[in-house]
Amino acid sequence: DVTHGRILYLEGVNVSFDGFKAINNLSLDIAPGELRCIIGPNGAGKTTMMDIITGKTRPDSGTVFFGSTIDLLRYKEPQIAQLGIGRKFQKPTVFEQLTVFENLELALKMDKRVPASVFFKLSSAQSDRLAEMLHTIHLADSVSRQAGNLSHGQKQWLEIGMLLMQDPKLLLLDEPVAGMTDEETERTAELFLSLKGKHSLMVVEHDMSFINTISDIVTVLCDGSVLAQGTLAQVQSDERVIEVYLGR
Ligand code: ADP
Repeated sequence: DVTHGRILYLEGVNVSFDGFKAINNLSLDIAPGELRCIIGPNGAGKTTMMDIITGKTRPDSGTVFFGSTIDLLRYKEPQIAQLGIGRKFQKPTVFEQLTVFENLELALKMDKRVPASVFFKLSSAQSDRLAEMLHTIHLADSVSRQAGNLSHGQKQWLEIGMLLMQDPKLLLLDEPVAGMTDEETERTAELFLSLKGKHSLMVVEHDMSFINTISDIVTVLCDGSVLAQGTLAQVQSDERVIEVYLGR
């Protein structure tokens, strides 16, 4: 078993766009239940890496495994989502006309594993899960509010809640605290810490104090491959990391 029990395993991945190597011999793995932060300068390949994992971009070569048995390169984007890989883009996307409750209910009912489930009433187990989720995402007091009237941070939490209703094994998040107030950022850290162990998370972020609160291991990407990896303190004192952040 080459994946060593990892939930995500990338080995020697390469992607070129018109001869330009956006991903260059990238190897990286994530343990089940881990919360990994990814940092790196603009153009490092962070978005392209997430596109590869979710099937949006197909690499020219390399290995990409989900768990020990699933070769992700054999699947297309919609199938990969169904396998249990969720993705959150930077901007919040919720159904603005619907209430907080209705958004979560819809996310729960869109479970592709249960055909036509959108027409069913919530089971009591599902209702319990929804109620619990409202607390996890700090929206228990806003159940009946229209999503369009929520703050930016609250919309982000709601969308994260919607993704979680589908019970992903791995969740990829692109700059989740960008544009949030300090208080919202703190509460997002709280939310992420509560997910650790239950889901595996890959978080691309620039906010170092947020990263410091939530992460165990930080991976620094640069020029399409891993430049450094370790605790935030370790990578921040790494000469090569300092150079790419300050020297360019
Ligand atoms: P990051 O998310 O770390 O800022 P990206 O993955 O967006 O980096 O981009 C990595 C490099 O690949 C950049 O130089 C970017 O210009 C290039 N790139 C990304 N997508 C494409 C594409 N579809 N066509 C051409 N070049 C691309």
